[in-house]
Amino acid sequence: MQKTILVMFSGGLDSCYMLYYYLTQTDYAIHAHHISLRYPSEPRWSEEDRACRQIVEYCRQIRSFDYSESRFDIGFKRYAGRDSDTQLLMAAQVAPNLRGRGHLAIGWEKSDFELEVNRQRAKNKVTENLWNALCDSIDYPLGEHISRTILFPLIEMDIDKGKMIAALPNELVEMTWSCRRPRKDESGISQPCGKCKPCQTIRFAKMSQ
Ligand SMILES: [Zn+2]
Repeated sequence: MQKTILVMFSGGLDSCYMLYYYLTQTDYAIHAHHISLRYPSEPRWSEEDRACRQIVEYCRQIRSFDYSESRFDIGFKRYAGRDSDTQLLMAAQVAPNLRGRGHLAIGWEKSDFELEVNRQRAKNKVTENLWNALCDSIDYPLGEHISRTILFPLIEMDIDKGKMIAALPNELVEMTWSCRRPRKDESGISQPCGKCKPCQTIRFAKMSQ
């Protein structure tokens, strides 16, 4: 049976590398899905949406793959839960449409586990349990071809941002958007803040090339 990888894709460096890796290093069918995460507390969706579309156009020159988008719009400024749970919820809406055996791939990398809350969740298998429950929630038999095992290729390959930048074409790295707090310059063009955690990690990774 054909295997299709559902790549949850944000337009940031990690998920861009994951998409590029599956396209260039495997023969699996690929379905990339982007969620436009619209939080008033972190307005970065227009930059991420643009990055995703540019990267998809670029990567489709490597080989063809499916791409879809959805929108998650939060109308309040307070705590809105974890993005990774939103990813799973949306992945469960997309997965029944995949051809062949579907495998969900999430672009976590090891620095994500510097956060205590993520270590605790990993220890309690929160993500795996949630994915299992969501697969159970899919109307029978539409979820039967979906693997309950989530792929974490960046963790499995032990690859960090420095290695990703070294392996990706430069123009592709420049298309990614990882900043959490974009600022507009005088011409109204979005620029990374340079201060948030993703900005700092990527700057450090670029400096050590
Ligand atoms: Zn930033």
